Amino acid sequence: MTIDEAAVRQAIADAVGSERLQVLRVTGESGTAVIDAGGLDGAARARLEQAAKDAARAAGLADLRVALTAEKRSRRILAVGSGKGGVGKSTLSANLAVAMVRLGRKVGLVDADIYGPSQPRLLATEGRKPEARDKTMIPVQSPWGVPMLSMGHLVQPGQAIAWRGPMAGSALGQLIEGDWGDTEILVVDLPPGTGDIQLTMLQKYKPAGAVIVSTPQDLALIDATRAIGLFDQGKVPVLGIVENMAGYLCPHCGQVSDPFGHGGAEVTAKELGLPFLGRVPLDIAIRQKSDAGEPPAAGEGPQAQAFMAIARAVLAALDQPA
Ligand code: ADP
Repeated sequence: MTIDEAAVRQAIADAVGSERLQVLRVTGESGTAVIDAGGLDGAARARLEQAAKDAARAAGLADLRVALTAEKRSRRILAVGSGKGGVGKSTLSANLAVAMVRLGRKVGLVDADIYGPSQPRLLATEGRKPEARDKTMIPVQSPWGVPMLSMGHLVQPGQAIAWRGPMAGSALGQLIEGDWGDTEILVVDLPPGTGDIQLTMLQKYKPAGAVIVSTPQDLALIDATRAIGLFDQGKVPVLGIVENMAGYLCPHCGQVSDPFGHGGAEVTAKELGLPFLGRVPLDIAIRQKSDAGEPPAAGEGPQAQAFMAIARAVLAALDQPA
């Protein structure tokens, strides 16, 4: 019996998705297929292979050998860093992830800020425990469409974490190597500063890009410049700088003041030849919503718009061919 190769191709494409079927070769009654399994976990890969084989058999092929490729096809790490703590790095990471989901991307979040993990609070997953399958952690689903893993899920809230370098590194590795499924962009909220953990992480996991958060005052900007040096050393492209806590709108008198100065991050970005990705005002609603586990980026109004605009700028930079 002659095999209709086009019919086999169509059957497999229907079963696994035509964008995944890369190569099909039919010789006699058997064939070989190369199928892109990018972004799928172990169980989904096995299902994909079985679906291809079943479809081939139904189309008359006695035997199909399947090669699955590109285990981590398109997952990219976006590192969010800062020169020091308290500038809003975690707030930006959470809201960037939520905003990118709103823009139609599949985004996960790793809270690598192992000394002060705040993402479970920010994204309303406090008290949840990630399960593990074959020693691989399964991310916790937040109500905002962002799967996430944080050291905060593994220790009691308020419990001091006295990690030493190597332990911290391997703990971080477990989070990043979790079962991220079809996540395309993994936002990593780095610990503040420019220590060994950060550098090792950058070298090992090779983020596709980094965003630096700073407040507008000079001292913070000097630290931010140091953080940029760290990424340069780790050969991670810095996509740009975000200015946080600029322009305070007084809820009582309606006056805008600039407790940390204004525009400093934009000037610094220009001096360093880096893009300026946007500005988030100092706004009590941002702190209140964040503390309540309701990321402002998920809502409406000016706060959400600020984060959405930054997310668009970050995605445009990230998607640019190198
Ligand atoms: P980092 O991760 O850099 O240590 P956080 O994101 O934890 O900083 O922010 C520190 C504190 O400042 C938090 O209480 C947070 O809610 C608050 N915060 C961050 N950005 C803003 C902002 N734009 N307006 C008001 N409060 C903010």
